[in-house]
Amino acid sequence: MENLTFQQISAEILKKSLKSVELTQHIFGRIDKLESKIGAFISLFRERALAKAVDIDRRLAEGAPVGPLAGIPVAIKDNMCTGFGATTCASRILGKFSSPYNAHVVDQLEDADAVIIGKTNMDEFAMGSSCENSALQTTVNPWDINRVPGGSSGGSAAAVAAGLCYAALGSDTGGSIRLPASFCGVVGLKPTYGRVSRYGLVAYGSSLDQIGPISRDVYGAAALLNVIAGHDRRDSTSVDESTAPVKDYVKNLDHPVENLKIGVAQEFFDVEGLDPEVEKAVREALQTYEDMGVALIEVSLPYMKYAIAAYYLIATAEASSNLARYDGVHYGHRTSRPKDYIDVYSSSRAEGFGDEVKRRIMLGTYALSAGYYDAYYLKALKVRNLIRRDFEQAFEKVDCLMCPTAPETAFKLGEKTDDPLKMYLSDIYTIAVNLAGVPGISIPCGLSSGNLPIGLQIITPAFSEAKLLRIARMFEKETEHHLSKPFC
Ligand code: GLN
Repeated sequence: MENLTFQQISAEILKKSLKSVELTQHIFGRIDKLESKIGAFISLFRERALAKAVDIDRRLAEGAPVGPLAGIPVAIKDNMCTGFGATTCASRILGKFSSPYNAHVVDQLEDADAVIIGKTNMDEFAMGSSCENSALQTTVNPWDINRVPGGSSGGSAAAVAAGLCYAALGSDTGGSIRLPASFCGVVGLKPTYGRVSRYGLVAYGSSLDQIGPISRDVYGAAALLNVIAGHDRRDSTSVDESTAPVKDYVKNLDHPVENLKIGVAQEFFDVEGLDPEVEKAVREALQTYEDMGVALIEVSLPYMKYAIAAYYLIATAEASSNLARYDGVHYGHRTSRPKDYIDVYSSSRAEGFGDEVKRRIMLGTYALSAGYYDAYYLKALKVRNLIRRDFEQAFEKVDCLMCPTAPETAFKLGEKTDDPLKMYLSDIYTIAVNLAGVPGISIPCGLSSGNLPIGLQIITPAFSEAKLLRIARMFEKETEHHLSKPFC
């Protein structure tokens, strides 16, 4: 069953040739077999999922209406609140925090009749590129268990790649959907900032965070986006549909984009540390598009090289403010024997947060402090504007940009944990997209000589996800990279 595509499995369920219960049991069977090796899930909802599946089968049998994701087993990154089970953000500070409500996207999945099977591992508070900053467990890459799955949505990407669910939700502040998608050989989409409500998503960098789908193929990503996209009055940054209407992302997916112009920047290939095998696969992907009659046009994004520096000021500044709420009083962990009330805060935070989170709170607090605000934070905001303008200017000439998703394939567990700056460089291709607020997708475009997946990133202007998905789908129809599977 795990070899069927999202579209096929959905059709089988609607035809009633496959029962949702059978599929759910099959998925839990795989989880029982593989999860001890992969470590993708922080929590599993076996009984709840089976009950939902029974209900879907009953409604189908009665001819009652079902939602567009009826019976599809999906997973959710553990930084999205669920009114059932725990929401941990892979942090000790949240402990077994149980949210009183569902995130908007969780409600949307439930209404669409998806079967939510569990919540996935991540870097603590989504800060990281390898999933190794999780305070709770290690997730490995299903293609090579000695390697990282990418981060921070590594659990979601690994679960999809290992066939432990058909699709998953991730969140992306600087690359956290696209990077693990690239490392695990699956499709990951970061929508335009404001396209999907962040209500109930635990905030990291609020002006950058966006929820998006991870799935085996472009169809799955489109089907999930159909369900989660749209205005939500509970998130004031979610965009009004009269300004940017939500499209049916599945409807014209198979129609190639006519007169497509792809922008390629020399800056993309000048990146230090770009693995020649990654460059080769991306150049071959560009060739595949050219063979379809698509024009490749040279563009330039001169400010992209400052993206990582600007991001690590803006994201950490926002994080330092967002994480102030974990004070030992409102949520989760509280120190057991505080000396006084100040110590309740400081010891609870010292015990509850991991090293990377502390590093970022300190960096962000510093960048926002009175004497340094103008020199660091304000300057970073100006650079962000210049990067946004780079994209706008490029999109005057082309429909999309293409580049690698990451400079390399999945690295070994532990390889970069001692050197945060090296780790930060993994997001060199993805971070500028968040700063500009535009959508980006990573799709598999080949395997390295070591049999590790390589990702192609496609970027389009704001609110053009329908076109972005069609461009990605064009590649999928010409190639078979999305069909390669890891060991399990
Ligand atoms: N790796 C980046 C960071 O650590 C991006 C993380 C993300 O997108 N959530 O901040």
